[in-house]
Amino acid sequence: MSRAWPGLGMGTWHMGERAAARSAEVAALRLGLELGMNLVDTAEMYGEGGAESVVGEAIAGRRDEVVVVSKFYPHHADRRKLLAACDASLRQLRIETLDLYLLHWRGPVPLAETVATLEELVARGKIRRWGVSNFDVADMEELVAVPGGENVAANQVLYNLARRGIEFDLLPWCEKRGIRVMAYSPLDEGRLTRHPAVADVAARMHVPPAQVALAWLLHRPGLIVIPKASSLAHVRDNRSAADVVLDAETLALLDRTFPPPHRKRPLEMV
Ligand code: NAP
Repeated sequence: MSRAWPGLGMGTWHMGERAAARSAEVAALRLGLELGMNLVDTAEMYGEGGAESVVGEAIAGRRDEVVVVSKFYPHHADRRKLLAACDASLRQLRIETLDLYLLHWRGPVPLAETVATLEELVARGKIRRWGVSNFDVADMEELVAVPGGENVAANQVLYNLARRGIEFDLLPWCEKRGIRVMAYSPLDEGRLTRHPAVADVAARMHVPPAQVALAWLLHRPGLIVIPKASSLAHVRDNRSAADVVLDAETLALLDRTFPPPHRKRPLEMV
């Protein structure tokens, strides 16, 4: 079954690292799913399988409602290790098929080998689509030039009000080709919720600061935004961001504090 990818999902970095936090993390993800944030982003790296296991528990019984995204290490990107890594992720997640599987960042394995293996995983029904993460324009150009590379479905990159470099070239490059951009660290790892300019706008609009930062991203059609929240209150706040509309005056004000790029900036990563 193919599912539409929603614009607002949930991240899971730092989940699955501490047993004491597990039930709260599962509850946060379940609440998000109930509220309609039905895309979950995880990675084999997060808690070394721990976050995938938390996600597995959270989505149990509702697999068909959720778009599940995971990522593999660059040092697992050769054929033998990638087939094993995918099986390990599916086991942790307790699912048969990943909706989207991403190369976490570029590494030493030739892209042609990784892409051929990802296409093999699609053919075997282990993944529905595949993509990359932390790829700048030059990396994307190389990727689409290898056999099967044009099937790349998504590029997950750092993008938020304070990190707007991709607007200069990478974002339009991907949009033109129908490659979905996933904005990671949309709250700049929480920092934007404490930024005075964001707080000012939020106070005027009577919404929490996180909603300003997320609504700013969500006004861009096609973007997938994946805030991570482990508290129920934060999950509720983040879901409500989808209902917040920033008017032209507010967008202009934010542009003054967080100017768009006027020249190429190398892709930043966390
Ligand atoms: P983020 O989502 O920008 O920020 C997360 C931080 O913000 C947490 O400390 C969280 O606290 C806090 N927060 C969440 N909602 C809030 C709210 N409504 N009000 C105030 N604070 C709030 O950072 P991130 O986790 O780095 O990025 C999101 C996801 O993107 C990750 O979890 C991961 O799935 C993905 N990611 C991918 C890459 C990559 O290389 N591909 C890199 C980084 C991240 P609580 O947890 O206490 O609620």
